[in-house]
Amino acid sequence: MPALCAIVLLVSCVAPAALTELYLSDYYTYEGVMDYLDSLAKQYPQRVLVKDAGRSYERRMLKTITITNGDRLPGKRTIFMDAALHSREWMTPMAALYAIQELVVNFKQNSDLLRNFNWIVLPLGNPDGYEYSRNSDRWWRNTRSPNGAECYGTNLNRNFDVAWGQGYAELADPCSESYAGSEAFSEAEARLVRDTMHELVDNGSGVMYLSLHTANRSMFYPWVHDSTPTSNHLEMQEIARYATNRIYAETSTVIKSLQAFYYGGEMGGTSLDYAFKVGFPLSFVFEMSGLAHGLEYKFFPPPTEIHRLAAESWVGIRALAEKAIEKYPPGRLIPRVPRVTASNKAPSSRDYNVLVLRGLLSTLLAYVAQHLIG
Ligand SMILES: [Zn+2]
Repeated sequence: MPALCAIVLLVSCVAPAALTELYLSDYYTYEGVMDYLDSLAKQYPQRVLVKDAGRSYERRMLKTITITNGDRLPGKRTIFMDAALHSREWMTPMAALYAIQELVVNFKQNSDLLRNFNWIVLPLGNPDGYEYSRNSDRWWRNTRSPNGAECYGTNLNRNFDVAWGQGYAELADPCSESYAGSEAFSEAEARLVRDTMHELVDNGSGVMYLSLHTANRSMFYPWVHDSTPTSNHLEMQEIARYATNRIYAETSTVIKSLQAFYYGGEMGGTSLDYAFKVGFPLSFVFEMSGLAHGLEYKFFPPPTEIHRLAAESWVGIRALAEKAIEKYPPGRLIPRVPRVTASNKAPSSRDYNVLVLRGLLSTLLAYVAQHLIG
């Protein structure tokens, strides 16, 4: 009995602190991800806020973590990162947790990334699909909502309201892993990402959206529904190249960088294009590597490779953030983009550029009125 008490005492003393240490020897379960976030909120209440932001179709929690440097100064800008919208891409939540650990636990080494910016991370964007992939069908990519005809699931990265349903025939096939859903934002998980984007754009803080995927070794930027370049194409190209060059310099892994359209052709409904459309001036998809020792493991690298691949992904995530922060200092205006509502039709690039110019002009006038006249 005394021995049992000692064990209970030991566990109760050691467990809370140990939970904030990220274990990289195997893939986390849904519960493991939720517990890790909660342990950080408990251990670092001055710098971390974990929000139970919504529910998946099967009522799992969609938790976001907001990470700050704790100085509580208002007016900071935001980097919004999500992972595992595609559930079989097991490395992406691990990479998101690794980034969270770097920003929270290893704060001192990374405080430059939190001086003028806060981060919001959704490390498990499709928990139903993730659990189904982990336990039943590892190649499962979609949500788990029913589509009738004994087919399940919508591809979250085709479910956003930007050129929704445009691109190729499988987007309309309820039994395809590319199914775009019954309508734009039919999926609770996509609506959660959308609402977070809208909140950050509306409060003027959203600068960079980053969505983690595996495993074709790419750094993509918008558009993917349209071949024409965005208004700040060169800026995003420069940032993407900076990140991929950094990864190559540190790990010798080659990650290509390009406008997403030129990888696979026209594709509507992506979170990448939606973030840019609603007003994030920077939007990227980081398709991480699934390579190990020259072998292509694609979505399921062996657990022994998790640590190395997560660390490699952090090199890229950190580099993207460094450049975003450099390009968008507190004094640089972010153009407001009027939101196009209740429409599945994406604006043409020409229309979009006009909208951006209008938004920039109104932001500039507001700035002048605030600082020079008042
Ligand atoms: Zn993906």
